[in-house]
Order: sequence, then structure tokens, then C-alpha cells
Amino acid sequence: MTTKVSEKITNNLAEIRQQLQILAEESSHGQSVQLLAVSKKHPLEAINAAIAAGQMHFGENYVQEAVDKINQLKGQITEPVQWHFIGPVQSNKTKDIAQYFDWVQSVEREKVARRLNEQRPGNLDQLNVLLQVNIDDDDNKSGLAPEQVDALAGYVMSCPKLKLRGLMTILKAGTTKEQRAHSFQHMFRLYERLQQTYGEQIDTLSMGMSADMRQAVLEGANMVRIGTAIFGERES
Ligand SMILES: *Cc1c(COP(=O)(O)O)cnc(C)c1O
Repeated sequence: MTTKVSEKITNNLAEIRQQLQILAEESSHGQSVQLLAVSKKHPLEAINAAIAAGQMHFGENYVQEAVDKINQLKGQITEPVQWHFIGPVQSNKTKDIAQYFDWVQSVEREKVARRLNEQRPGNLDQLNVLLQVNIDDDDNKSGLAPEQVDALAGYVMSCPKLKLRGLMTILKAGTTKEQRAHSFQHMFRLYERLQQTYGEQIDTLSMGMSADMRQAVLEGANMVRIGTAIFGERES
């Protein structure tokens, strides 16, 4: 990776952090916003450049790709980087996810939660869990229906090796600004309800990507998942 590319990543991160700070001040929710750098399909050098610029939370979608990167980085860095699994979870991949990741943002089924709980190694801290909600009832997206959140939240709370932290969503593509506002607001209400039920441990509402970050934060997101705006376009 050229110096130019890593400078670009450093600059992008600085710019996004500044935007997030301004947006959080503009937002009526008074939250501070955590930035998740989505590094899927980007090389180790790109991740290293982001770590050098102070980035600590990374999101990956594909288990094997992520495990390879995590293993390679282990020998190279001393920073306590946190890995978030954000892709659809296949039940035959839960063992690696339970072993390598700190967070799973895409839990949508009891079977997956049960396996993650059973397979989380005893020497590791609890695995942080977000429930993925399919808030637009989009056929192309995974996630729970809003009315299924309570039941799965209750199940995750009963798992000793899992820690329920909140909710995640990916909005449907190609909707209007008004539709997005409606969906983000609906997510915020579900998040508030979960907080009322389970208290302070519910502290994460993960919504907003490169294209809709601004609106997500203004509607209350306190974690945004940003790939393209940090690392550039992915190879398809
Ligand atoms: C790829 C991905 C992102 C990042 O998307 P960008 O548009 O590149 O910012 C965020 N969240 C999830 C779940 C993703 O799969």
C-alpha cells in the first residue's frame, strides 16, 4: 500500500470524526457517536493505516476473511482492537465468530444466539450482541421484525456468555428521506423500549453507513458503520 493511500485513510478518518462531532452536537439526542470502520474486502495495510490513526473498532462481514486478518494482525499490533461481526450469521460459522470477535451486530435467531453462547470460550469476556432489525421489512435484508425483538432480547439476556448491548439496522436502499426518517425513528423507539426493560447495559444503537450517516446520527444513532467513506470503494 502506498503512503498516499494510507494518508488518504488518515484524512478520511479525521474528517468523519469531525463530522460526527458536529452532528452529535446538532442532534437533539445528546449522544456521543462511536465510529465502526468497516474493513471488509480491504487489505491488512488499510486496517493498519486506520489503527495508526487511532481507530479501534473494525467491522467485518465474511468469517474466513476476518479470521485471516485477525490472525495476521495479532503478531503485528499491541493496540486492543475490537472486532465486530456485521454480516449474516450462518450457524456453521458461529464457532469462529464466538472465538475471534468481540461483538456480533447481526444476531437475528435464537439458534444463532444459543450456539454463540455455547461456543464462546470460557477464558474470554462475554460476547457483545446487537439484534439486527429488518425495520423496512425488506426482502433483501436479514433481521428480525420489530415485534420479534422482545422475545429474542429475553433469550439473549438468559445466555451467560452473551451481553445484550442494543440494536442494529440496515435500511432498505432507494427510499426517500422521509421514509428513512420514519425507519430511524422507529428504531430509536425500539431501542428506548429495550433500555427501559434492561437498563444501562443497553447502550448501542448501530445505524447509518457512508450514505446515510448524517441522518442516522440526527435521529439518535450512537454507532455508525462506515466503509467506503474511510477506505474507498470495495472491489466487488
Ligand atoms: C458494508 C457494510 C457497511 C459499510 O457500508 P459503506 O456504504 O461502505 O459505508 C455497514 N454495515 C454493514 C452491515 C455492511 O455490510
